[in-house]
Amino acid sequence: MARIVVVGGGIGGLATALFLAPRGHDVTILDRDPADLPSGPDDAWARWPRRGVPQLRHIHLFNARGRNVLREEAPAVLDALHAAGAGRIQLGGPDDEELVRLTCRRTTYEMVLRRAVLEDSRVRFVGDTTVAGLVADGARVTGVRTADGVEWAADLVVDASGRRSQAGLWMAALGLPAPERDEDTEGSVAYTRWYQLRVEPESALVRADLGYAAGVVAPADGGMFCVTFGCLPGDPVMARLRDSAAFDAAVAATPALAVWTDPDRATCVTGVLSMADRNNRMVRLAPGLAGIVLLGDAAMCTNPGYGRGVGLALFHARALAGVLAGVGEDPAAVTPAFEDVTRTELEPWYHAAVAGDRVRRTIGRRLVAGERWESIGAAGDDPEVRFARGAPHATERDPVVRRAMHRSFQLLDPPASYWGNEDIRARVDAVWRELESDPPPPAGPDHETMGRLLAD
Ligand SMILES: Cc1cc2nc3c(=O)[nH]c(=O)nc-3n(C[C@H](O)[C@H](O)[C@H](O)COP(=O)(O)OP(=O)(O)OC[C@H]3O[C@@H](n4cnc5c(N)ncnc54)[C@H](O)[C@@H]3O)c2cc1C
Repeated sequence: MARIVVVGGGIGGLATALFLAPRGHDVTILDRDPADLPSGPDDAWARWPRRGVPQLRHIHLFNARGRNVLREEAPAVLDALHAAGAGRIQLGGPDDEELVRLTCRRTTYEMVLRRAVLEDSRVRFVGDTTVAGLVADGARVTGVRTADGVEWAADLVVDASGRRSQAGLWMAALGLPAPERDEDTEGSVAYTRWYQLRVEPESALVRADLGYAAGVVAPADGGMFCVTFGCLPGDPVMARLRDSAAFDAAVAATPALAVWTDPDRATCVTGVLSMADRNNRMVRLAPGLAGIVLLGDAAMCTNPGYGRGVGLALFHARALAGVLAGVGEDPAAVTPAFEDVTRTELEPWYHAAVAGDRVRRTIGRRLVAGERWESIGAAGDDPEVRFARGAPHATERDPVVRRAMHRSFQLLDPPASYWGNEDIRARVDAVWRELESDPPPPAGPDHETMGRLLAD
């Protein structure tokens, strides 16, 4: 049995406790926020103070891989999510239980996981406790130190403190070799408003691609849904979406979104939430360290627009259980073995996100610069731009492409099975060659028109 101290009780920290405690490990979670439990989904949404998770009330969709990990590791938690109102989007056939996406508010999801952890007498969850540094013996981390100077000794420290992890600084403070960071510095900006349905809830996911931005309708629990625009950083037109009236104008001009927000159908219940970040980041621990692992966003985060973070954090937590079972509890063996898992299983998603974002930014910037929609991806254009233009149409028309896309986007198959697959590329190309001379129109106004609409 290993004595494990987890820094952070978000998704990755909670999953670590849920998967490791039943295997006999002694797990303590330290979180900077209070350890309270909301009384239900609406209470969590309305008042849960989670300053450590700034994305808590932003759009969250829960991918199939994460759902499958829960189904296998903690089926009672999956049942509790549905009992709390989580819906499902069946992406495969009616009998395909593997390819199912979960829909609910992030507050509901995290509340259900936290309740399961708090009810498990084998786990200690200590709130209002900010970790401020590590304790080490040479290159072996032996615990953490909190902001009020208390030391917590551990056989293994799991840094699950999220996208703002300070692990690199903590290591530097002890003279330990710094982790290597890869970062895609451009990022993106998301603008979101939440709505309450007046009609029977639906579980469809709508995506409206404008080329220079993408609008999404994401259903959630409690008859709520949100509309989110993912935009280029520095786009002065879409930056106006911070203003509620401009946001409403952009929705009204995008038919697939407007149908959802019709006042007969839904009432808007929030102002505009915005969040900008450098999205894609990968952190690799220096060789020779022991007694610490980076888990979830602390190890890697990708553009939220891909909806991968929660599923990867759950997968990562289960992989840690596997590593502890496989190499034993020797801290000198656990750290490199877990780094290997991160390199093999998570890192390909980082590279896929960087490559995907690069193409999307290229397309977006060309449209912002005034290039016509029809010329993007025309014959002779960059093959990646052509693939990105053709893929949404190919997924509608070719079931083989649709399935490969879903399985890859839902993290069931590696990125190479879709983006790197020659057969899929040929199929997308075939569909796009038929459409490119007269491409289907974008899902809403061009950038110049949007600029005029949002200025009014
Ligand atoms: C705008 C936005 C939208 C997103 N949408 C999606 C989506 O649709 N689908 C999806 O799968 N993912 C999405 N993500 C990503 C997802 O939120 C993360 O991948 C996920 O929360 C990672 O879990 P984590 O445990 O690593 O970090 P978090 O869940 O962020 O948890 C970190 C925890 O660490 C605690 N903490 C931090 N520092 C300290 C400290 N020093 N001491 C003690 N405690 C500390 C915090 O309080 C928090 O509880 C989105 C992210 C953003 C920014």
